[in-house]
Order: sequence, then C-alpha cells, then structure tokens
Amino acid sequence: MIPFNKPPYLGTEPAFIQQAIDNMKICGDGPFTKQCNEWLEQRFHAQKALLTTSGTAALEMAALLCGIKPGDEVILPSYTFSSTATAFVLAGANLVFVDIRPDTMNIDESKIEAAITDKTKVIIPVHYAGVACEMDTILDLASKHHLKVVEDAAQGVMSTYKGKALGTIGDLGCYSFHETKNYSMGEGGALLINDPAHREKAEVLREKGTNRSKFYRGQVDKYTWVDYGSSYLPSDMNAAYLWAQLQQADRINEDRLRSWNRYYEGLSPLSEYGCIELPHIPAECTHNAHMFYLKCANVEERSALIDHLKEHGALAVFHYVPLHSSPAGRRFGRFVGEDAHTTRESDRLLRLPMYYGLDESDLDHVIDIITAFYR
Ligand SMILES: *Cc1c(COP(=O)(O)O)cnc(C)c1O
Repeated sequence: MIPFNKPPYLGTEPAFIQQAIDNMKICGDGPFTKQCNEWLEQRFHAQKALLTTSGTAALEMAALLCGIKPGDEVILPSYTFSSTATAFVLAGANLVFVDIRPDTMNIDESKIEAAITDKTKVIIPVHYAGVACEMDTILDLASKHHLKVVEDAAQGVMSTYKGKALGTIGDLGCYSFHETKNYSMGEGGALLINDPAHREKAEVLREKGTNRSKFYRGQVDKYTWVDYGSSYLPSDMNAAYLWAQLQQADRINEDRLRSWNRYYEGLSPLSEYGCIELPHIPAECTHNAHMFYLKCANVEERSALIDHLKEHGALAVFHYVPLHSSPAGRRFGRFVGEDAHTTRESDRLLRLPMYYGLDESDLDHVIDIITAFYR
C-alpha cells in the first residue's frame, strides 16, 4: 500500500540526536535549538525565530502577543485546521469566519473588510498547501483598520510570496514541524517575530514568564519571574532531528517539487477533459509542494475515487471539515458573508500521497489508477 504520508527522514538525524545526548543538553534552548533558530532567521530573512513545541503552540503565543482578550474578534478562513482557531479561542477570542477562494483554497481577501468590526484585532491568513494568500491586500486592510496579521504558515516553510518567505510577511508567522509537514522534529514548530516590539515579550512567554533569555545574554543579573507565560521550548533532541533536515532543506524541497510536477503533468489530460481540477499557483507565489490535491465533481465521486485508490494500493484522503460547521466552530464563531465556496470545495478536494522520497513508480501508479477510474 502506498501510504498517504511518511515522516521525513534522511538518515543523518540519529547522529545529531546522539550529539545532543552527548552534549548533556536535552532540555530546551540548547545548541541545536539555537542553530535552528539562526538558520530560520538567515534563510528566510526573519527578524527573530524561536522554535516551539508545536505549530499550535506558536499560534497560541501569537494570540497572546497580539494581546487578545475575551470578546476580541479574529478573522480567519473556515477551511483550516482546528489549531488556527483554538489557539485564539484559548486567549478568549470570538472567531469570524469568511469564505475562501476556490482557486487556492485560501481566505478570500475581498471578503475580509465586510467582516471587520470595532472588536476585530487580528487577521489570520492560512497559506493552504504552502501557497500564499493575497498578502498585499491583507496587509493594506490591516494597516487601514489597525489590525495585526498572524500568518498560519504551518504548511508554508520554504514557500514565498513576491520573493518573501511565508511567515515573515505579517506581524507574526507560525511554522509547524509536525511529522506530516515538509520538515519535521516529530512535534514542533516555530514562531517568527517580524515586529521587533514583540521580541522580548515572546522570549518571556516561551520561558515560563521568566527573563531567562535576557539573563543568559548577560543583560540582567537576576533571573526571575516577570510576566505570565508557559513552556513552549522543545527538547534539544527534537531540534537535533530538525537540524538534520534543515541542512538538506533544498534537497527535500526539490524532491517534493519533482513529485508534485509529475502528478501535475500526469493528471493534466484528465483536467483537460474536464474530469478533475488541478491546483492553481498564482504567478507571485513559489510553493513547497506541501500537498498535491485534485478536485472531483462532488463528494460522491470523491468517495468512490478514494475507495478505488484503496482497492488498487494507494491511500488518498480528504481534508478539513469546515470549522463553521463543527461543534466548536459553531460555539466560538460565526460565518460572515456567504459560504459560496468553503463547503462545496472542501467536499470535492482529495489529497494524494505526498512525502519526501516518494518513488517515481509509485507516483506513476497513482496517476494510472486515477486515469483508469475516469476512463
Ligand atoms: C499542521 C498545522 C497546524 C498545527 O501544527 P502542529 O505542529 O501540528 O501543532 C496549524 N495550522 C495548519 C494550517 C496546519 O497545517
């Protein structure tokens, strides 16, 4: 059976993990964490990057740094992972969902302004499948209405919008290094801090409310509790696993893009016949092949295709159930405007096997099974 996902693994990870153990430094903020932070800052021209225990944790930090208080509103797409929403709900926010664009499955930037009220504090663009949202429009809206922008770039590591790395465009950016993402440390993530005003507070928040980071830099002579916070530091053993992957970031990216392009080419005839729809990459975006999806005519056809693929040895899966129709989404949020695309497009979308090291023969097999289904 061709799996849907395989956690990325190069073979160089165990030696780095052993090194972390030999360093006698397996807690947070050891040498590997620092190296990863610096790598992210240099590679993506980020002001400041901090590894976290998950992408969800990075989003939680972002919500707190934006000063979200009970009753504040945040604008996000309904078509996203629960983390995007629940991180802000924990801080007390009410969710305001808006529709997506059918071409990229990203928040429809033209629907945001109508959802802004005097309670709105943050816009949260989610870069679905590592393809950027229309950030220029979103940033203009944010500056016009004095809102913060938190990018959920969990899927967008190594992708760009107009040459800028995703995660470095809004006030704050959140990455995930979960095992289902392009680069992994098992569970983990990073917060990118693009507005220097948040820097010190982020360090305190991440270090149980202490000024430990400042203390280690010699900027204060006492290490003490200064504000509220939590523990968002991953173990340096996990950072060592990630470090191995960042060392080969281009190799992983190229391998995934090769698979993505082969799917695209192989499935193009079916798209030309009008059987399926293929993803759209806007001209100003480069993507990281986080995901390859196609769209069937409707949910019944998608179920049949999933079964057909399974019978012939490949696992394909659908994605998010729109949050506004979920029990928690109904409780904590409301949908503003018309759901013209969110439900319809999410019903049709099917994700194909995609991971580092996906065999060409397996790829061709998946393309053949799908072609046979439509024939
Ligand atoms: C994976 C993901 C997250 C959460 O990341 P974790 O590291 O699993 O906590 C958040 N948002 C999106 C869009 C994701 O794909």
